[in-house]
Amino acid sequence: MSRLLDRLQEEIDALDALSLRRRRQIAETACAPEQTLTLAGAAAPRTMLGFSSNDYLGLAAHPALAKAWAEGAALYGTGSGGSHLILGHSRAHAQLEERLADWMSPFIPQARSLFFCTGYMANLAVLSALGGADAVIFSESLNHASLIDGARLAKARVERYPHCDVAALDTQLASCDAPVKIIVSDAVFSMDGNIAPVAELLALAERHDAWLVIDDAHGFGVLGATGRGVPEALGLRSERLVLVGTLGKAAGVSGAFVAAHRTVVDYLVQRARPYIFTTAAPPAVAHALLASLALIEGEEGAERRARLLARIAQLRSGLKAVLPADGSAWLAESPTAIQPLIVGDNARAMRIMAQLDGHGLRVGAIRPPTVPAGTARLRIALSASHGEGDVARLVDALGEALFRPAKEAA
Ligand SMILES: *Cc1c(COP(=O)(O)O)cnc(C)c1O
Repeated sequence: MSRLLDRLQEEIDALDALSLRRRRQIAETACAPEQTLTLAGAAAPRTMLGFSSNDYLGLAAHPALAKAWAEGAALYGTGSGGSHLILGHSRAHAQLEERLADWMSPFIPQARSLFFCTGYMANLAVLSALGGADAVIFSESLNHASLIDGARLAKARVERYPHCDVAALDTQLASCDAPVKIIVSDAVFSMDGNIAPVAELLALAERHDAWLVIDDAHGFGVLGATGRGVPEALGLRSERLVLVGTLGKAAGVSGAFVAAHRTVVDYLVQRARPYIFTTAAPPAVAHALLASLALIEGEEGAERRARLLARIAQLRSGLKAVLPADGSAWLAESPTAIQPLIVGDNARAMRIMAQLDGHGLRVGAIRPPTVPAGTARLRIALSASHGEGDVARLVDALGEALFRPAKEAA
């Protein structure tokens, strides 16, 4: 046994030596910009200003959602009691699916939706069910890990295409004679913040008779006039569109959904193993999500989206003014809440993160293999609940960390 343990320990030590070892912090309080955290190895908790949550609209600790959650638990209890096909499918789940189908019906003819426990599972379900042995999956090279794993689980052959390269994908599709072709892409890239050329991808899907699977984890709730995400922002419409949205990010709760033509959803219910062989999420989650959707599409949602846009603009103009002129750190071109500051090597990213720590600021340092080698970055994630003063503090501290690393590190 000790030899087996030694092997694991050696691998962990190797990660440590490369500044690649991941450590968790413990959140002592609810998700919010000011949050009390116990960092790895620290004796006492600290209250810090964070820029790393996916709570883009600041709904994760919204009292109306907590109230709806409690109400859902009172109505339906805490556990669903089974899988969706065996008594776990509650009225709350059904209402949520109807609501989401309505939401997505402008973009998908005869839309239905299917609720999942997590986005990870939704992606495994869609790709493994649609990607049978006679299919080819065309996978964007910066896709989220859950899409990569979904493609692995599928029996289909997988071809990657270069990041946002519509012409290359066109060529790949043209030389493929498989009866089923599936294009799959993140709508908003999770480590870069840029938006995929989804309208162009959809045109390719039409031309080459392919499905287009779009994962809008970071666009749902945030983009579009009523928060319906990238399909709304870009005005898409097609029965080829299979849309995955996650509900644990901007929606502030948990879970995910697939929206697609009714036949696709019917098929997933029959065939998608990650849907069938798991316990349905608690109905209270679905009940809380109904309240979240109401907030997102209403006036409060619109106000929150406007506040988020103002913080994004403030951060971008503020950081551009303090970035070093030698190009050793640069801000990715991103119109979304995800604003990556690319600094190159892992140790530099960790050092800047440590300096921000000293100022009570928390920003995630993202390193390979999550991003390509040599592009380690600080992934700044903004939220509607950040104030103007919060963003100003971050810009000041980053300006200092980028220009005076030696002094701080000493
Ligand atoms: C977060 C995320 C997921 C996974 O969603 P969960 O609900 O957290 O499992 C899938 N795709 C993308 C692009 C994501 O960012």
